Amino acid sequence: MRRGRTKERWTGAIRRLLDPPDELMLEAGAIGEVLVARIRLVVVSLIVLMPPIAWLSGARIEEVVTGGAMASVALVFAVVLLHKVRRDGAAVRWRFLSAAFDITSISLVLALFLVQGLPHVAINSRVVYELYLLSIAATALRGDRRVCLFAGGLALVQYGAIIAAAVSFGDLNDASWAPFLYGFHSWGDQMSRLILIAAMTLLALACVHQTRKLLQLSSQDRLTGIRNRAWLDSRLERELGEAALTRRSVALAMIDVDDFKEFNDRFGHLAGDAALRSIAERLAERIESPGVVARYGGEEFTVILPDVDPPDAGRRLDVLRATFESDRIDLPGNENPVASPTLSIGVAGWAAGDSAEALIDRADRALIRAKRAGRNRVVVADADAPAA
Ligand code: GH3
Ligand code: MG
Ligand code: MG
Repeated sequence: MRRGRTKERWTGAIRRLLDPPDELMLEAGAIGEVLVARIRLVVVSLIVLMPPIAWLSGARIEEVVTGGAMASVALVFAVVLLHKVRRDGAAVRWRFLSAAFDITSISLVLALFLVQGLPHVAINSRVVYELYLLSIAATALRGDRRVCLFAGGLALVQYGAIIAAAVSFGDLNDASWAPFLYGFHSWGDQMSRLILIAAMTLLALACVHQTRKLLQLSSQDRLTGIRNRAWLDSRLERELGEAALTRRSVALAMIDVDDFKEFNDRFGHLAGDAALRSIAERLAERIESPGVVARYGGEEFTVILPDVDPPDAGRRLDVLRATFESDRIDLPGNENPVASPTLSIGVAGWAAGDSAEALIDRADRALIRAKRAGRNRVVVADADAPAA
Protein backbone atom coordinates (compact mmCIF):
# COMPACT_ATOMS: atom_id res chain seq x y z
CA MET A 1 0.00 0.00 0.00
CA ARG A 2 2.70 2.43 1.12
CA ARG A 3 4.92 1.33 -1.77
CA GLY A 4 2.06 2.02 -4.19
CA ARG A 5 1.64 5.53 -2.78
CA THR A 6 5.40 6.23 -2.97
CA LYS A 7 5.40 5.10 -6.61
CA GLU A 8 2.42 7.35 -7.34
CA ARG A 9 4.18 10.31 -5.72
CA TRP A 10 7.31 9.72 -7.81
CA THR A 11 5.45 9.33 -11.10
CA GLY A 12 3.47 12.50 -10.23
CA ALA A 13 6.72 14.40 -9.54
CA ILE A 14 8.28 13.21 -12.81
CA ARG A 15 5.16 14.12 -14.77
CA ARG A 16 5.23 17.61 -13.23
CA LEU A 17 8.90 17.97 -14.23
CA LEU A 18 8.04 17.24 -17.85
CA ASP A 19 4.89 19.39 -17.91
CA PRO A 20 5.04 22.33 -20.34
CA PRO A 21 5.10 25.72 -18.59
CA ASP A 22 1.77 27.43 -17.95
CA GLU A 23 0.85 30.70 -19.64
CA LEU A 24 2.38 32.85 -16.89
CA MET A 25 5.72 31.06 -17.08
CA LEU A 26 5.68 31.16 -20.87
CA GLU A 27 5.41 34.94 -20.71
CA ALA A 28 8.16 35.23 -18.09
CA GLY A 29 10.30 32.75 -20.07
CA ALA A 30 9.97 34.84 -23.25
CA ILE A 31 11.43 37.84 -21.39
CA GLY A 32 14.13 35.60 -19.84
CA GLU A 33 15.07 34.19 -23.24
CA VAL A 34 15.76 37.68 -24.63
CA LEU A 35 17.81 38.46 -21.50
CA VAL A 36 19.88 35.28 -21.98
CA ALA A 37 20.34 36.13 -25.69
CA ARG A 38 21.68 39.60 -24.77
CA ILE A 39 24.07 38.19 -22.14
CA ARG A 40 25.25 35.56 -24.66
CA LEU A 41 26.01 38.27 -27.21
CA VAL A 42 28.06 40.27 -24.67
CA VAL A 43 29.99 37.15 -23.51
CA VAL A 44 30.72 35.97 -27.08
CA SER A 45 31.77 39.51 -28.11
CA LEU A 46 34.33 39.44 -25.27
CA ILE A 47 35.49 35.96 -26.32
CA VAL A 48 36.07 37.22 -29.89
CA LEU A 49 38.63 39.65 -28.46
CA MET A 50 40.61 36.84 -26.79
CA PRO A 51 42.46 35.32 -29.83
CA PRO A 52 43.96 38.66 -30.97
CA ILE A 53 45.02 39.39 -27.38
CA ALA A 54 46.54 35.88 -27.16
CA TRP A 55 48.36 36.55 -30.45
CA LEU A 56 49.84 39.78 -29.07
CA SER A 57 51.08 37.87 -26.06
CA GLY A 58 52.83 35.28 -28.23
CA ALA A 59 50.32 32.46 -28.86
CA ARG A 60 50.81 30.21 -31.92
CA ILE A 61 49.13 31.57 -35.06
CA GLU A 62 47.24 28.25 -35.71
CA GLU A 63 45.61 28.46 -32.26
CA VAL A 64 44.77 32.14 -32.79
CA VAL A 65 43.18 31.44 -36.18
CA THR A 66 41.19 28.40 -34.93
CA GLY A 67 40.04 30.26 -31.81
CA GLY A 68 39.18 33.37 -33.82
CA ALA A 69 37.21 31.37 -36.41
CA MET A 70 35.20 29.53 -33.72
CA ALA A 71 34.50 32.72 -31.78
CA SER A 72 33.37 34.47 -34.97
CA VAL A 73 30.97 31.64 -35.84
CA ALA A 74 29.62 31.78 -32.26
CA LEU A 75 29.19 35.56 -32.61
CA VAL A 76 27.12 35.12 -35.78
CA PHE A 77 24.94 32.51 -33.99
CA ALA A 78 24.54 34.80 -30.96
CA VAL A 79 23.35 37.66 -33.19
CA VAL A 80 20.94 35.36 -35.08
CA LEU A 81 19.58 33.91 -31.80
CA LEU A 82 18.99 37.38 -30.33
CA HIS A 83 17.15 38.43 -33.48
CA LYS A 84 15.01 35.24 -33.48
CA VAL A 85 14.03 35.27 -29.80
CA ARG A 86 13.19 38.99 -29.95
CA ARG A 87 10.66 38.26 -32.65
CA ASP A 88 9.57 34.83 -31.53
CA GLY A 89 10.64 34.62 -27.87
CA ALA A 90 7.52 32.80 -26.73
CA ALA A 91 8.22 29.86 -29.08
CA VAL A 92 9.42 27.00 -26.93
CA ARG A 93 11.63 25.54 -29.66
CA TRP A 94 14.04 28.51 -29.38
CA ARG A 95 14.55 27.76 -25.70
CA PHE A 96 15.69 24.21 -26.44
CA LEU A 97 17.73 25.30 -29.48
CA SER A 98 19.53 28.11 -27.68
CA ALA A 99 20.27 25.90 -24.65
CA ALA A 100 21.63 23.20 -26.99
CA PHE A 101 23.75 25.87 -28.74
CA ASP A 102 25.28 27.07 -25.45
CA ILE A 103 26.13 23.61 -24.11
CA THR A 104 27.39 22.23 -27.43
CA SER A 105 29.62 25.30 -28.07
CA ILE A 106 31.37 24.66 -24.76
CA SER A 107 31.83 20.96 -25.58
CA LEU A 108 33.21 21.91 -29.01
CA VAL A 109 35.87 24.12 -27.40
CA LEU A 110 36.86 21.21 -25.09
CA ALA A 111 36.85 18.83 -28.10
CA LEU A 112 39.16 21.25 -29.90
CA PHE A 113 41.75 20.80 -27.12
CA LEU A 114 41.49 17.02 -27.63
CA VAL A 115 41.99 17.41 -31.39
CA GLN A 116 45.10 19.47 -30.63
CA GLY A 117 46.43 16.58 -28.51
CA LEU A 118 45.85 18.39 -25.21
CA PRO A 119 43.60 16.00 -23.15
CA HIS A 120 44.68 17.53 -19.80
CA VAL A 121 43.43 20.96 -20.91
CA ALA A 122 40.12 19.39 -22.01
CA ILE A 123 39.39 17.73 -18.66
CA ASN A 124 41.08 20.15 -16.25
CA SER A 125 40.25 23.47 -17.94
CA ARG A 126 39.56 26.10 -15.33
CA VAL A 127 37.35 28.44 -17.35
CA VAL A 128 35.65 26.51 -20.13
CA TYR A 129 34.09 23.80 -17.92
CA GLU A 130 32.54 26.47 -15.64
CA LEU A 131 30.65 27.82 -18.66
CA TYR A 132 28.53 24.61 -18.52
CA LEU A 133 27.40 25.66 -15.03
CA LEU A 134 26.65 29.22 -16.20
CA SER A 135 24.65 27.94 -19.18
CA ILE A 136 22.60 25.58 -16.99
CA ALA A 137 21.99 28.41 -14.50
CA ALA A 138 20.77 30.59 -17.40
CA THR A 139 18.11 28.00 -18.25
CA ALA A 140 16.33 28.99 -15.01
CA LEU A 141 15.55 32.35 -16.68
CA ARG A 142 13.63 30.54 -19.40
CA GLY A 143 11.02 29.37 -16.89
CA ASP A 144 10.71 25.86 -18.35
CA ARG A 145 11.76 22.85 -16.27
CA ARG A 146 12.11 20.73 -19.41
CA VAL A 147 14.78 23.10 -20.77
CA CYS A 148 16.73 22.87 -17.46
CA LEU A 149 16.63 19.07 -17.60
CA PHE A 150 17.53 19.06 -21.29
CA ALA A 151 20.54 21.37 -20.81
CA GLY A 152 21.75 19.47 -17.72
CA GLY A 153 21.34 16.09 -19.45
CA LEU A 154 23.10 17.30 -22.59
CA ALA A 155 26.02 18.70 -20.55
CA LEU A 156 26.36 15.39 -18.66
CA VAL A 157 26.39 13.35 -21.87
CA GLN A 158 28.74 15.67 -23.76
CA TYR A 159 31.17 16.19 -20.87
CA GLY A 160 31.06 12.42 -20.20
CA ALA A 161 32.09 11.89 -23.84
CA ILE A 162 34.94 14.43 -23.44
CA ILE A 163 36.25 12.51 -20.40
CA ALA A 164 35.97 9.18 -22.28
CA ALA A 165 37.82 10.63 -25.29
CA ALA A 166 40.52 12.15 -23.04
CA VAL A 167 41.27 8.88 -21.18
CA SER A 168 41.47 7.06 -24.52
CA PHE A 169 44.79 8.92 -24.99
CA GLY A 170 46.30 6.33 -22.55
CA ASP A 171 47.70 6.86 -19.05
CA LEU A 172 47.35 10.62 -18.63
CA ASN A 173 49.53 10.56 -15.51
CA ASP A 174 52.47 8.99 -17.38
CA ALA A 175 55.73 10.95 -17.01
CA SER A 176 55.83 11.48 -20.79
CA TRP A 177 53.09 14.16 -20.33
CA ALA A 178 55.35 16.22 -18.02
CA PRO A 179 55.47 19.08 -17.00
CA PHE A 180 51.64 18.70 -16.37
CA LEU A 181 50.85 22.41 -16.71
CA TYR A 182 47.12 21.58 -16.53
CA GLY A 183 47.44 19.05 -13.67
CA PHE A 184 47.00 15.29 -13.46
CA HIS A 185 44.03 13.16 -14.37
CA SER A 186 41.90 12.18 -11.36
CA TRP A 187 38.67 10.14 -11.55
CA GLY A 188 37.57 11.80 -8.29
CA ASP A 189 37.84 15.26 -9.88
CA GLN A 190 35.98 14.18 -12.99
CA MET A 191 33.16 12.58 -10.97
CA SER A 192 32.91 15.79 -8.92
CA ARG A 193 32.58 17.79 -12.14
CA LEU A 194 29.73 15.54 -13.33
CA ILE A 195 28.05 15.77 -9.91
CA LEU A 196 28.34 19.60 -10.03
CA ILE A 197 26.57 19.64 -13.41
CA ALA A 198 23.75 17.53 -11.93
CA ALA A 199 23.62 19.76 -8.81
CA MET A 200 23.42 22.92 -10.95
CA THR A 201 20.56 21.36 -12.92
CA LEU A 202 18.67 20.70 -9.65
CA LEU A 203 19.32 24.29 -8.55
CA ALA A 204 17.96 25.63 -11.87
CA LEU A 205 14.86 23.43 -11.45
CA ALA A 206 14.35 24.77 -7.93
CA CYS A 207 14.67 28.37 -9.21
CA VAL A 208 12.00 27.73 -11.88
CA HIS A 209 9.72 26.20 -9.23
CA GLN A 210 10.16 29.18 -6.92
CA THR A 211 9.72 31.73 -9.74
CA ARG A 212 6.48 30.04 -10.72
CA LYS A 213 5.14 30.27 -7.17
CA LEU A 214 6.10 33.95 -6.82
CA LEU A 215 4.66 34.77 -10.22
CA GLN A 216 1.41 33.08 -9.35
CA LEU A 217 1.20 34.98 -6.07
CA SER A 218 1.93 38.33 -7.68
CA SER A 219 -0.53 37.97 -10.56
CA GLN A 220 -3.44 36.33 -8.77
CA ASP A 221 -6.32 38.13 -7.10
CA ARG A 222 -6.56 36.84 -3.54
CA LEU A 223 -10.33 36.79 -3.21
CA THR A 224 -11.37 35.34 -6.55
CA GLY A 225 -8.26 33.43 -7.68
CA ILE A 226 -8.41 34.96 -11.18
CA ARG A 227 -5.74 37.33 -12.61
CA ASN A 228 -5.32 40.67 -10.83
CA ARG A 229 -4.87 44.27 -11.90
CA ALA A 230 -1.06 44.12 -12.05
CA TRP A 231 -1.24 41.22 -14.49
CA LEU A 232 -3.97 42.97 -16.49
CA ASP A 233 -1.88 46.13 -16.93
CA SER A 234 1.13 44.27 -18.31
CA ARG A 235 -0.98 41.94 -20.46
CA LEU A 236 -2.89 44.84 -21.97
CA GLU A 237 0.35 46.69 -22.81
CA ARG A 238 1.62 43.53 -24.52
CA GLU A 239 -1.61 42.92 -26.46
CA LEU A 240 -1.69 46.52 -27.67
CA GLY A 241 1.99 46.36 -28.64
CA GLU A 242 1.28 43.25 -30.73
CA ALA A 243 -1.85 44.80 -32.22
CA ALA A 244 0.20 47.84 -33.28
CA LEU A 245 2.69 45.54 -35.05
CA THR A 246 0.21 43.17 -36.67
CA ARG A 247 -2.71 45.60 -37.15
CA ARG A 248 -5.03 43.13 -35.42
CA SER A 249 -8.08 44.36 -33.58
CA VAL A 250 -8.40 44.16 -29.80
CA ALA A 251 -11.61 44.71 -27.86
CA LEU A 252 -11.75 45.55 -24.17
CA ALA A 253 -14.75 45.22 -21.87
CA MET A 254 -15.28 46.76 -18.45
CA ILE A 255 -17.78 44.72 -16.45
CA ASP A 256 -19.48 46.03 -13.32
CA VAL A 257 -21.72 43.97 -11.05
CA ASP A 258 -25.15 45.59 -10.74
CA ASP A 259 -26.43 46.91 -7.39
CA PHE A 260 -23.76 45.08 -5.49
CA LYS A 261 -23.91 47.41 -2.51
CA GLU A 262 -27.52 46.39 -2.06
CA PHE A 263 -26.52 42.72 -2.39
CA ASN A 264 -23.96 43.18 0.42
CA ASP A 265 -26.49 45.02 2.56
CA ARG A 266 -29.02 42.25 2.09
CA PHE A 267 -26.84 39.13 2.46
CA GLY A 268 -23.75 40.43 4.30
CA HIS A 269 -20.19 40.98 3.09
CA LEU A 270 -19.13 37.34 3.42
CA ALA A 271 -21.95 36.32 1.11
CA GLY A 272 -20.90 39.21 -1.16
CA ASP A 273 -17.38 37.76 -1.28
CA ALA A 274 -18.78 34.35 -2.21
CA ALA A 275 -20.86 35.96 -4.96
CA LEU A 276 -17.78 37.76 -6.36
CA ARG A 277 -15.87 34.45 -6.35
CA SER A 278 -18.72 32.78 -8.20
CA ILE A 279 -18.97 35.63 -10.74
CA ALA A 280 -15.21 35.49 -11.39
CA GLU A 281 -15.34 31.72 -11.80
CA ARG A 282 -18.23 31.90 -14.27
CA LEU A 283 -16.58 34.70 -16.26
CA ALA A 284 -13.31 32.75 -16.51
CA GLU A 285 -15.19 29.61 -17.58
CA ARG A 286 -17.35 31.30 -20.19
CA ILE A 287 -14.80 33.54 -21.90
CA GLU A 288 -13.27 31.60 -24.73
CA SER A 289 -9.50 31.58 -25.20
CA PRO A 290 -7.61 33.69 -26.29
CA GLY A 291 -9.94 36.05 -24.42
CA VAL A 292 -8.82 36.71 -20.83
CA VAL A 293 -10.48 38.11 -17.73
CA ALA A 294 -9.01 39.86 -14.69
CA ARG A 295 -10.43 41.55 -11.62
CA TYR A 296 -10.01 45.28 -12.17
CA GLY A 297 -10.86 46.04 -8.54
CA GLY A 298 -13.88 45.94 -6.20
CA GLU A 299 -16.86 44.47 -8.09
CA GLU A 300 -15.38 45.31 -11.49
CA PHE A 301 -13.80 42.98 -14.01
CA THR A 302 -11.98 43.54 -17.31
CA VAL A 303 -12.01 41.29 -20.36
CA ILE A 304 -9.50 41.50 -23.22
CA LEU A 305 -10.61 39.94 -26.50
CA PRO A 306 -7.74 39.81 -29.00
CA ASP A 307 -8.61 39.57 -32.69
CA VAL A 308 -12.23 40.59 -32.14
CA ASP A 309 -13.79 43.80 -33.48
CA PRO A 310 -16.10 45.87 -31.21
CA PRO A 311 -19.49 44.85 -32.73
CA ASP A 312 -18.54 41.16 -32.52
CA ALA A 313 -17.23 41.66 -28.96
CA GLY A 314 -20.55 43.35 -28.08
CA ARG A 315 -22.52 40.37 -29.39
CA ARG A 316 -20.36 37.82 -27.56
CA LEU A 317 -20.48 39.73 -24.29
CA ASP A 318 -24.23 40.12 -24.56
CA VAL A 319 -24.57 36.32 -24.81
CA LEU A 320 -22.35 36.07 -21.73
CA ARG A 321 -24.37 38.72 -19.86
CA ALA A 322 -27.62 36.87 -20.61
CA THR A 323 -26.28 33.64 -19.04
CA PHE A 324 -25.90 35.49 -15.72
CA GLU A 325 -29.59 36.51 -15.71
CA SER A 326 -30.77 32.97 -15.11
CA ASP A 327 -27.91 31.83 -12.80
CA ARG A 328 -28.58 30.98 -9.18
CA ILE A 329 -25.75 30.84 -6.66
CA ASP A 330 -25.15 29.23 -3.27
CA LEU A 331 -24.27 31.62 -0.47
CA PRO A 332 -22.87 30.87 3.00
CA GLY A 333 -25.66 31.15 5.56
CA ASN A 334 -28.42 30.75 2.97
CA GLU A 335 -30.21 27.45 2.63
CA ASN A 336 -31.52 28.06 -0.87
CA PRO A 337 -29.59 29.35 -3.87
CA VAL A 338 -30.31 33.01 -4.68
CA ALA A 339 -30.49 34.83 -8.02
CA SER A 340 -27.03 35.87 -9.21
CA PRO A 341 -26.33 39.60 -9.50
CA THR A 342 -26.50 40.81 -13.11
CA LEU A 343 -23.76 42.58 -15.08
CA SER A 344 -23.44 45.86 -16.93
CA ILE A 345 -20.78 45.89 -19.63
CA GLY A 346 -19.02 48.63 -21.59
CA VAL A 347 -17.04 47.61 -24.68
CA ALA A 348 -14.47 49.57 -26.70
CA GLY A 349 -12.25 48.64 -29.63
CA TRP A 350 -8.59 49.58 -29.79
CA ALA A 351 -7.75 52.21 -32.41
CA ALA A 352 -4.20 52.74 -33.72
CA GLY A 353 -2.39 55.19 -31.47
CA ASP A 354 -4.64 54.48 -28.47
CA SER A 355 -2.93 54.03 -25.11
CA ALA A 356 -4.16 51.37 -22.66
CA GLU A 357 -5.58 54.19 -20.49
CA ALA A 358 -7.51 55.68 -23.42
CA LEU A 359 -8.99 52.28 -24.28
CA ILE A 360 -10.03 51.62 -20.66
CA ASP A 361 -11.50 55.11 -20.46
CA ARG A 362 -13.68 54.59 -23.54
CA ALA A 363 -14.91 51.19 -22.28
CA ASP A 364 -15.61 52.82 -18.91
CA ARG A 365 -17.71 55.59 -20.48
CA ALA A 366 -19.71 52.95 -22.34
CA LEU A 367 -20.20 51.14 -19.03
CA ILE A 368 -21.53 54.30 -17.39
CA ARG A 369 -24.02 54.59 -20.26
CA ALA A 370 -25.08 50.98 -19.70
CA LYS A 371 -25.74 51.81 -16.03
CA ARG A 372 -27.69 54.96 -16.90
CA ALA A 373 -29.76 53.08 -19.43
CA GLY A 374 -31.02 50.75 -16.70
CA ARG A 375 -28.19 48.20 -15.97
CA ASN A 376 -27.96 44.53 -17.07
CA ARG A 377 -26.91 45.45 -20.61
CA VAL A 378 -23.96 45.89 -22.97
CA VAL A 379 -22.99 49.18 -24.58
CA VAL A 380 -20.39 49.28 -27.35
CA ALA A 381 -18.45 52.56 -27.36
CA ASP A 382 -17.56 52.73 -31.03
CA ALA A 383 -20.95 51.61 -32.33
CA ASP A 384 -22.49 54.21 -30.03
CA ALA A 385 -25.50 52.02 -29.34
CA PRO A 386 -26.41 49.20 -26.96
CA ALA A 387 -25.68 45.75 -28.41
CA ALA A 388 -28.62 44.19 -26.63
P1 GH3 B 1 -24.04 49.87 -9.61
O1 GH3 B 1 -25.07 48.97 -10.20
O2 GH3 B 1 -24.26 51.29 -9.96
O3 GH3 B 1 -22.67 49.44 -9.92
O4 GH3 B 1 -24.27 49.80 -8.04
P2 GH3 B 1 -23.29 49.13 -6.99
O5 GH3 B 1 -24.01 49.06 -5.69
O6 GH3 B 1 -22.76 47.84 -7.52
O7 GH3 B 1 -22.10 50.15 -6.98
P3 GH3 B 1 -21.41 50.91 -5.80
O8 GH3 B 1 -20.17 51.52 -6.41
O9 GH3 B 1 -22.36 51.84 -5.13
O10 GH3 B 1 -20.99 49.79 -4.77
C1 GH3 B 1 -20.07 48.84 -5.03
C2 GH3 B 1 -20.11 47.85 -3.91
O11 GH3 B 1 -19.23 46.76 -4.14
C3 GH3 B 1 -19.73 48.47 -2.60
C4 GH3 B 1 -18.63 47.59 -2.07
O12 GH3 B 1 -18.80 47.31 -0.72
C5 GH3 B 1 -18.79 46.34 -2.87
N1 GH3 B 1 -17.54 45.63 -2.97
C6 GH3 B 1 -16.40 46.01 -3.62
N2 GH3 B 1 -15.44 45.08 -3.43
C7 GH3 B 1 -15.95 44.10 -2.66
C8 GH3 B 1 -15.43 42.87 -2.12
O13 GH3 B 1 -14.28 42.51 -2.34
N3 GH3 B 1 -16.28 42.13 -1.37
C9 GH3 B 1 -17.56 42.51 -1.11
N4 GH3 B 1 -18.31 41.71 -0.38
N5 GH3 B 1 -18.06 43.66 -1.60
C10 GH3 B 1 -17.29 44.44 -2.35
MG1 MG C 1 -18.39 49.65 -9.46
MG1 MG D 1 -21.57 47.85 -9.29
